[in-house]
Amino acid sequence: MLRALIFCIFISISGLITAQPAEAPASPHNPRSVILIIGDGFDDQHVTMGRNFLAGHDGELVIDTLPVRAAVQVQTVGKDTQWVYVADSANTATTLATGVTTQMGRVGTSATDEDLVTIAQRANAAGFKTGIVSSSSVTDATPASFMSHVSSRGCENPDIILGGELYSVAYEGCPQDATVNGGPGSIAEQIVKAPIDVILGGGLSHFTTSDPKSGKTAIMMAESLPVSIVTDPAMLTQADSNQRLIGLFATGHLPVRLQGSDGRGAEQPDTSTLNKLDWRLGSVTQPDPIKCEPNPAYGNTPGLAKLTEVALDRLTQDNDTGLFLMVESASIDKESHVRNPCGSLGEIAQLEEVVSVALTFAQTHPETLIIVTSDHAQAAQIIPEPSLYADIPVPVYSPGHVARLIMPDGSLMTINYATNGFVSEEHTGANVPLFANDVGQGLIPAFLRQREVHDVMASFLGL
Ligand SMILES: [Zn+2]
Repeated sequence: MLRALIFCIFISISGLITAQPAEAPASPHNPRSVILIIGDGFDDQHVTMGRNFLAGHDGELVIDTLPVRAAVQVQTVGKDTQWVYVADSANTATTLATGVTTQMGRVGTSATDEDLVTIAQRANAAGFKTGIVSSSSVTDATPASFMSHVSSRGCENPDIILGGELYSVAYEGCPQDATVNGGPGSIAEQIVKAPIDVILGGGLSHFTTSDPKSGKTAIMMAESLPVSIVTDPAMLTQADSNQRLIGLFATGHLPVRLQGSDGRGAEQPDTSTLNKLDWRLGSVTQPDPIKCEPNPAYGNTPGLAKLTEVALDRLTQDNDTGLFLMVESASIDKESHVRNPCGSLGEIAQLEEVVSVALTFAQTHPETLIIVTSDHAQAAQIIPEPSLYADIPVPVYSPGHVARLIMPDGSLMTINYATNGFVSEEHTGANVPLFANDVGQGLIPAFLRQREVHDVMASFLGL
């Protein structure tokens, strides 16, 4: 990786994109703030699933009350700079954080492996307070892309950055980014040094993994720095307000709030032997319906709304300039990968609560731009119950996995996952929605590319 940070250069395969003219910087008496809320995998299928489940089919989500709505084209480039039509969270978060279109897997780095200054880093340099909150490990792709720079998203700690095994597969790591090779270090090492005032989420295990050469963990490296690292939510309000704050409340990602009945997710329809011999014959048995119930593993996990309130409280202390805060509801995506619609729905509920916290904040901080968007589309689809072809005397069923959800009003909503037959579903390539509060009116066009979401936020803050 090139160590030099590239300022104010926005690169896309369609050519150089000139930075938009900045508006007047925030004055001391007129603080400006941006709250960016990312629902990972929060595409229109998930928006609709969330509305049907949380508000009722005739109801409205909090995001539905926001006056600005746009479609965002997700963009990714491959190694040969040709377009790639389905993204991952690393390249899309990097695009939202930097305004640069890049390759899958990259965290805060360009397709040519240059470190890209993020909006959070630029906001800090301009005097804004900054925060990153996520229900994933804070070293995961989305939060990491706002505060660190590595060539591959798996380089989360000082051990794996030198290569090894990840998910039982050989992984080359990011040896050029390792401190022993003169690089900035793993994501965890960069986070403890990052100029971000508040960082809250999971991922403690990456901060307690030691560098195989020095034996030092990221937490040890932070001992000489003005940063408090807490692992108990009760300590959040007692942490030294004169220091940066990192809160890590799970070894990995934070547990999700909901699960399917007895832990069940989507399942494959069961076909008769005759049907296996000839698709026109025999019968099919659909999975039994499930309800969403509390996930016992969630326990006392601090909710995203609570973490957002803590972040906003700290970031507004002695602050006449304003703030940049990114909050991610991470497991809409993660639960869709593992075909658990109830897990995704619980995370959508958390996202809605965060939007309410942001709107309450904006009542007393009127120059606050609130943007809610997604990084990429996901696998879940709402499919007919029963099939459109149920009257035809042929068994018709999904070739994928199906969850038949009993809704709060007793109706059935059927969710399908069918992008592959592997243990983890694929992302999909549709454009994603964007919602914004009244401050976004006139700033956000009805259609924009993902890099332009960054440009709108940077321009609003005068960066
Ligand atoms: Zn994903």
